[in-house]
Formats: sequence, C-alpha cells, structure tokens
Amino acid sequence: MINLKEFAQRRSRLMKLMGAGSVAIVMAPPHLLRNADVEYPYRPDSNFYYLSGFDEPDAVLVLLPGKTARSIMFCQDRNPEQEIWTGARAGPEGVCRDYAIDEAFPIEMLDNKMPELLDGCTSLYSMYGRNSNFDSQIFSWVNRLRVKNRMGVKAPVAFCDVAALLNEMRLIKSSGEIKTMRRAAKITAEAHIQAMRTARPGQMEFEVAADIQHVFNKAGATFAYQSIVGSGANSCVLHYINNNQAMNDGDLLLIDAGAEVNCYAADVTRTFPINGRFSKEQKAIYEIVLQAQKAAIKQVKPGNLWNAPHKMAVKVIVRGLLKIGLLKGEPEKIIKSESFKKFFMHGTGHWLGMDVHDVGDYKINRRWRRFEPGMMLTVEPGIYIPANSRGVAKKWWNIGIRIEDDILVSKTGHEVITSKIPKEVSELESLVGHN
Ligand code: CA
Repeated sequence: MINLKEFAQRRSRLMKLMGAGSVAIVMAPPHLLRNADVEYPYRPDSNFYYLSGFDEPDAVLVLLPGKTARSIMFCQDRNPEQEIWTGARAGPEGVCRDYAIDEAFPIEMLDNKMPELLDGCTSLYSMYGRNSNFDSQIFSWVNRLRVKNRMGVKAPVAFCDVAALLNEMRLIKSSGEIKTMRRAAKITAEAHIQAMRTARPGQMEFEVAADIQHVFNKAGATFAYQSIVGSGANSCVLHYINNNQAMNDGDLLLIDAGAEVNCYAADVTRTFPINGRFSKEQKAIYEIVLQAQKAAIKQVKPGNLWNAPHKMAVKVIVRGLLKIGLLKGEPEKIIKSESFKKFFMHGTGHWLGMDVHDVGDYKINRRWRRFEPGMMLTVEPGIYIPANSRGVAKKWWNIGIRIEDDILVSKTGHEVITSKIPKEVSELESLVGHN
C-alpha cells in the first residue's frame, strides 16, 4: 500500500530537512534472542522501515544530502548456504533493484566504508542512545577521521538526533499510510467482533486472545502489541497481559487488542459483559465512559488543542461519577485536585502509527500542540474500580471499563476509522455470545 516512490520521497524529504554537508545513519537492529538459540519474530525498526521499506535485519541506511543526494544501504550479502536455513536475502543488488537505493554494499564492508563516507560531513544524524554498540561504532569512525585531521580529513562536529526530524514527518500520515491503517482497523474490527461473538462464561481469557490472534493471522497481520484480555478483577489492571484466568458469569471482559499491517498499528479497546447482559452497576459505569468517549472524540478537529479531548473526557466522567455518588463535592474542585484519578488514572489517548504509542511531540514550546489533518490518535477514556476500593460500595467492585477508538484528523473534523466495532450497550448485548 505504500509504494517505492513514497519511501524514496521520504528519504529526499529527510535529506532536505538535514541540509547539504550532513549525513544520516539509520540502523536496522539484529535479531533478538528469545532464549538459547531461539529468536523473536523480527520486526523492523520503525524509522528504518519508514525510510526504506526494507525488512531484513543487520542493515544500515546512509543518506547523503547535497546536489547529488545519495541513499546507500549496507545489508546482508547473498549467501546460498545460509539462505537454505533463513530464507532469501535481497543482497546489495536486490536492494538497489527492488528498493530504489542508489548504492548498496555487504554489511561486512560497513566499517571500512563509513569513515570515507563521513569525511567532510559537518553534521552526523543518527538515532543516538538506542543501541550503545552502534553508538560506539559510529564514534569509532569519527575518531578515525579525527586522527587524520592533519591530512586535511574533516570529521563531523555536530551530532544530531535524526528521530527528531522523522518524528514530525511520521506524525502526519500520507494517503498510503492512512490506507494501510484502515486495513489494520478493519482486521481489528473483525477480531473484536469475533471475540464478542465467541466469549462465554467459563472460557479462559487466553481462548479469547487466541480467537483474536486467529483473525489477525488469517488476514496476514500480526498483533501491534500483546493483547490485553482481562475479565473481572483483571479488567482493572491497565496492562494485564497474562490472560490466564477463567471468565466468570456476571463479570466484564476488557479487550485491548490491535492488528499491525505492514508495520502500522491499530489500537482498540472494548468492554462487555461476559454473559451478554450488563448488570445495573456495570451499565451505569459503561454509559459514563461511552458518553465521555463520544464527547472527547468530538473535540478532535483541526485547530483544537491536543488535550481538548482529555479535558472533555474528565468533565463527563466527573459529572457521571458525581451523579451516581462515587465522587462527592464540587466538579471544579474535583478536577482541580485531580481526585478523579482514583477511577480514571490515565490520559485519554496517544498518537498512533508505526508504533502503537507513536512518535511526535505533544507540546510545542511547552504548549499543547494543535490537531492537523493527517494526524492519527486514539481516544480512550476509562473508569476502573478495583475490589476493596476505599469508600466504594462492594457492588461497584471489579468494574474496569475502557472504550478506545482510532481517530483520523480530517480537513474538516475527524473520522473514527474503527467505527465498525460495536460499542452501544444494546449492540453489545445482542452480539455477545451469539455466534
Ligand atoms: Ca490500547
């Protein structure tokens, strides 16, 4: 969905932002070991993939802006013997041919080649601080140039964070990116609906997690993050991923799960009663969260401040909790003192993109930034009432509810790209448990 041309355009945009006389070095990390000699599935680094579309490990992309801007890739060389075990590699030739890279070399040549490529560059852009081995490697090249200073060799003098530039680029999504994210949203919708249909009292949480995973994998996607499938008390644990408890009749199930398609994430939460019927208390809390979410989503439009949805969600939640007696006092005072955080302790959303908590600043010059068309974010208020909550009657315990959708800022307002996933009480009650 994102074509070669777009990857090339991103590289040239970045090179323009860096300016002549600079160089960028972006690394694709090696495989990570899970245990002994078993590797984790490989997921490319977001920035590296954003600039190249290349998903092999052990590669380094070098960008040299200037009149004759060049993209250079160091990658794993072809190796028929190795490829029998680990699959086909593009190799330098394939990288130039299939990824529109100007020059490519085997990764083994990196150490020899880099000092010569860095010679004369003033500013060196990289992702410092991510991988200390790679940081040391970069400075070993710089030091090799420094000692040749008398021969007229010039080492870079400014070391800049390439991510600072990339973060801003990645924050505004292109039409290709939006299309990819719509696909992730569609698969995520199918998975959540499937989970609603199949969930039953007595099932284990991991059975629901498996149903979700099945839908993702069947569609050729993977998960963007570990699915959270928390029933009863676990619905109040924000990052619960054990998913190993039996689901009880009368409890709620909170599912936070999103598919990843070509390195782009969806991130959705739904909460529903496992037996298909909300209790009076569950319904009361659910309606507050739903109302808060809808009101918050309305605040997403170009020109509005980043925290406008959160402010609105807090307002609606405080009002709702006052009405049912879980909070007491003046709304303004509760908001000011943040005593609502006992029940709603997280923010109302985050940027969404290649990383589930995507890059991009939330404040500019210490002020909340304004929404612009092409930004993608989540809106996800919640109320959580763990057992033994002080001053809270037992009937409210173990109710944890979050409702989360993915929102695109459009030219005129917003679009909820995950709107196909039911969230009305009546919709959920008629869907849950009806396979
Ligand atoms: Ca989430």
